[in-house]
Amino acid sequence: MTDPLRKPDLRAPRLPLDKAARAALDDIDSAGLRRSLRLIDGCQDPEVTIDGRDLLLLCSNNYLGLASHPDVRAAAEAAIRRYGTSAVSSRLISGHMRAHEDLEKRLAVWKGTESALVFSTGYQANVGAITSLVRRGDVVISDELNHASIIDGCRLSRAHTAIYRHNDVEQLRSLLVEHGDASRVLVITESVFSMDGDKAPLVEIAAACHEHGAWLMVDEAHAAGIFGSNGAGLVSELDLQSEVDVIVGTLGKALASFGAYVAGSHALTDLLINRARSFIFTTGLPPSAVAAAHAAIDITERERERSTSLLVRAHRLGELLRDGGLAVPQVESQILPVVIGEAETTVAVMRGLLDDGIYVAAIRPPTVPRGTSRLRVSLMATHTDAHIERAATAIIDHVHRHTH
Ligand code: PMP
Repeated sequence: MTDPLRKPDLRAPRLPLDKAARAALDDIDSAGLRRSLRLIDGCQDPEVTIDGRDLLLLCSNNYLGLASHPDVRAAAEAAIRRYGTSAVSSRLISGHMRAHEDLEKRLAVWKGTESALVFSTGYQANVGAITSLVRRGDVVISDELNHASIIDGCRLSRAHTAIYRHNDVEQLRSLLVEHGDASRVLVITESVFSMDGDKAPLVEIAAACHEHGAWLMVDEAHAAGIFGSNGAGLVSELDLQSEVDVIVGTLGKALASFGAYVAGSHALTDLLINRARSFIFTTGLPPSAVAAAHAAIDITERERERSTSLLVRAHRLGELLRDGGLAVPQVESQILPVVIGEAETTVAVMRGLLDDGIYVAAIRPPTVPRGTSRLRVSLMATHTDAHIERAATAIIDHVHRHTH
């Protein structure tokens, strides 16, 4: 079978676009990799209506349950009244509004860095940071499971990119030695990995970077809001702010809004304002999104019990799944992978769960490596014990049905 994710063969006879698109979709279909949208009515709460049916939602990144919190909504509404609906310009033209300034100051205090700069998405933050820091002739050393936005940033930067096996600090060290002559070396890792939910060995990675004079960039998309005594993330929990040169985080997950930020030194954020094309050539975040994130940080910092109960429930779900005979790794965060293997089997399990009133996304290549298709279960602080028990029973049942 042809690779459904391949680039088009430019020497093939030209087809009308519609026909070419259909042929490409047929290839994607036959590999079991077709994706489609599911319509959710209402808020991203544990119980939602999808395509007209009431379901238990197990794949939202609304980790702290703040997307429908009254204070977060009120902050967004007040910002609309005060600032209008949009920044209507890029930040460098007239789109840098009081709300953005306030959030950036708040983020810097929260993260324990000199400065922070808000981007319109996490994708753009990663691409913008990487392309501003390294170029042809430089070296990026990147974990093999880093997010697509990091991969795309590496590609766009034209720096040489060396990949190390997931969380393998020994291999990272040997790549640092191998590229010892490069004038700029940037090491990039996520702190909590998006599809596996495990943590990077940040202390060891930071030590290796320090010894070799490499810069370290950490994407905290799935850790911010959850870890650390004030919820700022794993870098803060481990007190590594002075060792990590670039911290990226998103506003569209635990912080219940939209957008992202890069936190670090003043020099870093000034450089990004001047060099990051994904910051310069795009409209600033709407003030309502900015204000919602600001309110969510306040709640996150104040109500740490949300993260505690989220992680307790995640551990409980992990135990129940293991007791039911599933090979679930040790739970380290609110994200639990139930690896099934083949894409088609994973989709069959997901469909069975949907019939049973549970929505958990099937994650397939290219999001994860081939042969590691999985259910990615992500929990919210607002899930109850009863939700967790219902989820475990159904997942165990459907995985066994399709894999035995
Ligand atoms: N980094 C990681 C690790 C992510 O998982 C994601 C999104 N899922 C992003 C960056 C991109 O963030 P955004 O959705 O704001 O573009």
